[in-house]
Amino acid sequence: MLQTYAAQLASPMDLLGEAFGLSETELRALGLPASEARELFHLAQVYFGPTAFSARQRAARATAHSLPTLKLIERYAARAGSQREAWALRERLCTAAGDTPQIQTLARSLVPARRPPQRGVRLTRRRDGDWTLSITGESSLLADVYAAVGSGVEGVDKLIRHGAGRARVTTNVIVTLDALDRILDGDGEEVTLRMTNGATLTGAQLLQRTLSEHGYATLVHPVSGPVNLYRTQRLASAKQRIMASAQNPTCAWPGCNHPADTAQIHHLRAWHHGGNTNADNLAVCCSYHNSINDDDPNAPPRRGRLVRQEGRVTWIPPWG
Ligand SMILES: [Zn+2]
Repeated sequence: MLQTYAAQLASPMDLLGEAFGLSETELRALGLPASEARELFHLAQVYFGPTAFSARQRAARATAHSLPTLKLIERYAARAGSQREAWALRERLCTAAGDTPQIQTLARSLVPARRPPQRGVRLTRRRDGDWTLSITGESSLLADVYAAVGSGVEGVDKLIRHGAGRARVTTNVIVTLDALDRILDGDGEEVTLRMTNGATLTGAQLLQRTLSEHGYATLVHPVSGPVNLYRTQRLASAKQRIMASAQNPTCAWPGCNHPADTAQIHHLRAWHHGGNTNADNLAVCCSYHNSINDDDPNAPPRRGRLVRQEGRVTWIPPWG
């Protein structure tokens, strides 16, 4: 058994070829843990799915690397600015010789490091003009500060004169059922929850704060989507918006971090193509991505579009 396991890890392309065509749910049904199913599903899409860079894909598929190395390569490919760059990098790394640490060294030299910004408060003083104050810190703290201040300078003035109070703006904390299980088991420090203002909170922090401070808490089934909506403050008039935000706390377009609280609610099947304003036809999308989404499925694809597959909102590339 160990030998089979070792062989699969060492030459993973057969495994990925077999996984291709199966959904994440089907992979989980085979007994794979959720995180493994997600990674395997993603890797199978990358190496066997449709792409405009099929020559590079073929070259990369001939790799001698192990599964852990492929996972590593994907972490670096995710930082590429475009599909073209991502595929150039995958081919370069897949065809290079070396074990996982050696490939990591090579990847580091090819992909510029993202240095996390240092926490702190910085003030730029200008002799003859406005000054600039910038703060870098925990996302949940700064989301609260931003909610209290607003985007206008007057907000800062008010804050200093009259104190903060609690942020008026309510946001939605997304709690999936499996995350809730872990939080209740005391695993809260390990669980990261997303809020619809784009910030994150650990499960432990959520327990420290009261629900009413945040407005809403929504239970989301990891596969089926929103299952129930608990109202703690407001009328449910924006219920569909809340449900969409619960599933996508930020814009559903891949890589976009625009928070749901200030995003638009997009019709997956466009209104003028007969799409309903029903929960399953709605998705969070920032105004930019809403404007470039290929709304007409019969028109030549240009920038790709959002669809719902197996309950989740996913992006179909123009070549897909
Ligand atoms: Zn967006």
